[in-house]
Amino acid sequence: MALYITDACINCGACLAECPNHAIYEPAQSWNFAEGTALAEVETETGESLDAQTLQEPLSDFIYYIVPYKCTECQGFEEEPQCQAVCPVECCLPDANFIESKAELLTKKEWLHAV
Ligand code: SF4
Ligand code: SF4
Repeated sequence: MALYITDACINCGACLAECPNHAIYEPAQSWNFAEGTALAEVETETGESLDAQTLQEPLSDFIYYIVPYKCTECQGFEEEPQCQAVCPVECCLPDANFIESKAELLTKKEWLHAV
């Protein structure tokens, strides 16, 4: 299960450097698959190949956000989600729209980092 950031975020930025997958972005900042990963290309839902450097639309213009496709709950790196551990207002929560098992999260981590 990926995490998401609720509207309670105070934009302190404490979580940003903690993410091993670079899944966290500042408000209104474009994201991409390549940043913080070993990905060069990504297959889209329609089966097309996407350059991992391609900039994607921000998921929030107002608060920090987590890209669910890059979040592994820190599996493979840490015992617990690091953004959740450092957030001063406890606004990093499990995203019910992205439910994944531990095995799936580890597979995702391997996909992101090619290890
Ligand atoms: Fe990044 Fe871990 Fe937070 Fe997911 S749970 S956004 S991988 S720090
Ligand atoms: Fe927002 Fe919490 Fe991250 Fe600070 S640590 S930017 S409050 S999610």
